[in-house]
Amino acid sequence: MSLTTLRLGPEDISQGASILRRGGLLGIPTETVYGLGADGRNPRAVEAIFAAKGRPQDNPLILHIPGADWLERYCGHIPPQAYALAERFWPGPLTIILKRRPCVPDVVTAGLDTVGMRCPDHPVTRAVIAAAGTPVAAPSGNTSGRPSPTCAAHMLEDMDGKIDGILDGGPCTVGVESTIIDLTAQPPRLLRPGGVSLEALEEVLGPVEVDGAVRRLLAHGEAPRAPGMKYRHYAPQAPVTVVRGAPAAAAAYIRQHCAPGEGVLCFREFTQDYPGCTVRDLGPAGDKAEQARRVFAALRSFDAAPVARIWAQCPDEGELGLAVSNRLNKAAGFHIVEL
Ligand code: AMP
Ligand code: MG
Repeated sequence: MSLTTLRLGPEDISQGASILRRGGLLGIPTETVYGLGADGRNPRAVEAIFAAKGRPQDNPLILHIPGADWLERYCGHIPPQAYALAERFWPGPLTIILKRRPCVPDVVTAGLDTVGMRCPDHPVTRAVIAAAGTPVAAPSGNTSGRPSPTCAAHMLEDMDGKIDGILDGGPCTVGVESTIIDLTAQPPRLLRPGGVSLEALEEVLGPVEVDGAVRRLLAHGEAPRAPGMKYRHYAPQAPVTVVRGAPAAAAAYIRQHCAPGEGVLCFREFTQDYPGCTVRDLGPAGDKAEQARRVFAALRSFDAAPVARIWAQCPDEGELGLAVSNRLNKAAGFHIVEL
């Protein structure tokens, strides 16, 4: 690790690749969020990711590859469904869980016999992976527990001085992490909603089972299907309360209950309704793609404002709404008011 983080641009692919090849840590732009990347075949480099983020050792990372033709290097027993998903959604915001081969270091998979594989839809990052000639292990580039970074500046808030370089590829166009689908389960199981919707997955796979932890808090003692599910996530410092329901009714509920000086994350239509509060715009009520792009920056911005509490509106769970509401609910520790 170096004390100064090199700022790299899209023209600096070979410098980024050499950081990866020598076992360093590189911030990478993707369409979902910024990632904290290292050579996925180098256990010591991958260990440094956990140290920089303060990430629990039992929370596995995703291996990023330039295309589906690299799957066989790292995965065994690849079902035809994996190639069907790759054909339809890669490059793109979908992570596929498959059986791993022994060449994948334990530190990447947290000792699991499966590995998460993704081909990101960002030309800069695919170019740096191809130039390094190695799969890049990466989680989101935030300090563990904080909202994920959706631009280079947000990643540097958390990681400046802890990583060797960051490739600035502009703001993320999707804004929430990849969808995670486990193809080692029967039927396939959605472990995390993300940039590819459940509806779109089911067009390719048929029925998909949604893991319980997507919509509710794990019960005490309940074993998570994916290790990361048990950790606090995406949370600003102030406690968050999510208010679910028709947009106007939820906005009215928040108006009645919020105190001056508190934070409100609401749909664009209602931003004028909370004088005296710290208000952030989640995007238009009907535009879930815009909500996905805005949600992490909005949550993160409350840490720079002295609010004691945050109220949040939330979209319905159709299409991208499942991912947006999952991130909001997790930020709230599933503290939800249902109207
Ligand atoms: P992040 O994108 O920062 O959340 O980090 C990667 C995510 O992928 C975490 O939520 C992990 O729990 C998940 N993940 C990675 N590999 C696996 C796996 N083999 N099985 C289940 N989940 C995984
Ligand atoms: Mg993360």
